[in-house]
This record gives sequence, C-alpha cells and structure tokens, in this order.
Amino acid sequence: MARRLQTLDDHDVGGKRVLCRVDFNVPLDNGAVADDTRIRAFLPTLAQLREQGARVILMSHLGRPKGKRDESLSLLPAAARLAELIDAEVVFAHEIVGDEVLALAKDLPDGGVMVIENLRFDPREKAGDDEFAKELAALGEIYVNDAFGAMHRAHASITGVPRHLPHGAGLLVRREVEVLGRMLAADATGRTPFGAVLGGAKVSDKMGVIGALSRRLDHLFIGGAMAYTFLKAQGHDVGASRVEDDKLDLARELLDKCAERNVKVHLPVDHVVAERFAEDAPPTTVTEIPEGHMGLDIGPETLSQWSALFNRCNTVFWNGPLGVFEWDAFSGGTRGVGEALASIQGFTVVGGGDSAAAVARFGLGERFDHISTGGGASLEFLEHGDLVGLQVLRS
Ligand code: ADP
Ligand code: MG
Repeated sequence: MARRLQTLDDHDVGGKRVLCRVDFNVPLDNGAVADDTRIRAFLPTLAQLREQGARVILMSHLGRPKGKRDESLSLLPAAARLAELIDAEVVFAHEIVGDEVLALAKDLPDGGVMVIENLRFDPREKAGDDEFAKELAALGEIYVNDAFGAMHRAHASITGVPRHLPHGAGLLVRREVEVLGRMLAADATGRTPFGAVLGGAKVSDKMGVIGALSRRLDHLFIGGAMAYTFLKAQGHDVGASRVEDDKLDLARELLDKCAERNVKVHLPVDHVVAERFAEDAPPTTVTEIPEGHMGLDIGPETLSQWSALFNRCNTVFWNGPLGVFEWDAFSGGTRGVGEALASIQGFTVVGGGDSAAAVARFGLGERFDHISTGGGASLEFLEHGDLVGLQVLRS
C-alpha cells in the first residue's frame, strides 16, 4: 500500500529549527531579483511556520555555479527580497554548512528566518552526497520541502536530508501534487474530454510525457518547434523549420501509439513563417511551408480550429509556447491559445517556465485554475505519477 505523504501538519514545529528546501532559483538583474514569483509562492508555508513559532532556515539553489562559489549567483538578493516581502529581518549566512552557520541558526528567535548560501556552490549538492546531506541536516530539527520545481532531482537537499530528519511537504508542494494528481485522474473522475497542448522548443524534452499522457488523453495538440518534427515524420514539407532529425522515428512511434489509443492528434494546419530566425524577419502566413522558410508560430486557422475543440474539453493541460512568443510577430499563436484556454469552463493547468512566463506576459495568470511552479518537475510528475523528492517524504 502506498504510504501517505508526510506534511507540515504532521509535526509540532513550535520553537524548533525547521530546515526548508525552497525554490528561490529566481532571475537576477544587476544584483537584484528581477521576478520574485517563486519567493512569493513560498510565503503561505513560511507564514504558517512562523505563526507556529518555528525558527525557519531556508536553503535553495540558484543558477548553475558548477560546484564553485560564484558571487554573481549568491542568494543574498533573494534573502533581501524576502525580508521586504515579509517586512521582517532575514539573517543571511554566507556559508552553506558548518559551525558558524549552525550557531546563527541556534540564535534565531521563535518565528525568526534565515537563508543559507546557494547549495550549488558545493559540488556535493548535485552529487547527492550523503555526508553533505548530514551536514545540512545538522542545521535543523525538522525538514520541510516546498521546492516542487526541484523535486525531480536526486540532490542532497532533496533526497538526502529527509533521510536524516523528521520530514514533510510544504503547502506549495501539497497543492501541486493535489492539482496535478487530480488532472491525471481526469479519465477516472469523468472530467473528460481531456486535452493537452504541447509546444516549445524540443521534442526530446517532451517525448516521455507524450507517451505517458497518451494513455489518458482524448485530444493532443502539438505546436511550437516540436510540431515540425511530427509534420516531417508524416511526410510534410517543413522548409527550414527546426527539426530533430534523430527523433523522426520516435515521433512516428508516438503518433502510432496515439492512434492505437484513440487519442486525436492535432498538428498545425497553417503557420507563420519567416526566412530568418530573427525578431525583425517579415512574417508570412502560409498553409504549405515554402523552401527556405521556417515555421515560427501556428497560424490563425489552426488557432480557430483548436479553440473550438478546447471549448469541448473539461480538462486541459498546457506546456510549451506554440511559437517564438518572445517576438511580437510570432507571439499570436501562444497569446491566442492562452486566451482561448483562459475562457473555457473546464479545468486548466499550465506547466513549464516559458509557458508560465507567457501566461504572465499576456496577463492571463488569474484565469487559469493552476500554474505549476515546476517545469521539468511537473512533466516528470505527469509522466511517472511521482517524483524522487516526494517518495522520500512518504516514509
Ligand atoms: P517551457 O519552458 O514552457 O517548458 P520550452 O522551454 O520547451 O517551454 O520551450 C520554449 C521555447 O520554445 C521558447 O523560447 C520559444 O521561443 C521556443 N519556440 C516555440 N516555438 C518555436 C518555433 N516554431 N521555432 C523555434 N523556437 C520555438
Ligand atoms: Mg523552458
């Protein structure tokens, strides 16, 4: 029998040092936090811990410092931003582990908050080293994970530390698991038709999830650069569009699998193309891609056909922009799909860093039922129904 996920509520945290894995992997600009969405996502858990009198020690990764100290990737700006958000002092430890960090942690008053330096300054974090996990665990008395976006990684702070401390999931992680789990159960709970809209840059990132979702979906909409690998696999001319030639066989297999399982696959029927991969390249709308042109967005006919089908779906998951949405001339498909999904009655979930950024940029955030904070993690959860970082919280 599956063991129950331990949570924050399973522990009496009053007066205890609670070591929290958070996802403060935020974009920085000139030494300041450029987007604090991920920090704000943790505030409910932090508020609950502080109300109960916990002494909160936060740990996170930021960027890819390659196991070495790199001041441009310090968590200090994130700690400063957190202090502004909660309007309270936040202690910052310039080291990750060791006696001095432990002394700072022990000095925290009830309700006090501290952030330790970027976990990835130490190569043992990504290596999942158990000695490092023990040194981290020594800082706390209870471990809480609220870093959903990192829970697919077997790093020391994710899968190591909870082996050494009583542990539980934070509120953000609980909500992600609940919502994504509910979505996966759409067929069992009758919330069908179930559709998935997948786009983005690379087929290889999304193959696994397409295979897994094909067991549950009624409709699969494929756009973005990914669509051209599928279109080419079907024998269409795709001009100079981005194609992963080594994935053509895999694309054919996935299309066959979908056909066997009665999943209706919808590929773009028209495209916004250009002769160069450039923001100022003049866009043209076509149904057949001329030689030397590349598809940079889905076209208006595709959008209108898809929108009609979205309206009939009771559950829709969206991951991956449908075009190069960063450039205005090629953003219409992503904006249009976002607006169409935002207005349907059904349950709508967005996953993926760039997709979430697109939804925010088009001002649609409030109109989706859920925006997952984890890109890779949400895809892996949908593929396997579980994550390594969740498994360790069940024992
Ligand atoms: P997410 O982060 O939401 O999972 P991805 O990282 O998979 O999304 O893909 C996002 C990127 O895909 C964007 O930078 C976007 O410009 C790019 N993209 C989408 N469509 C195309 C296309 N037709 N050609 C080239 N790049 C594309
Ligand atoms: Mg991305």
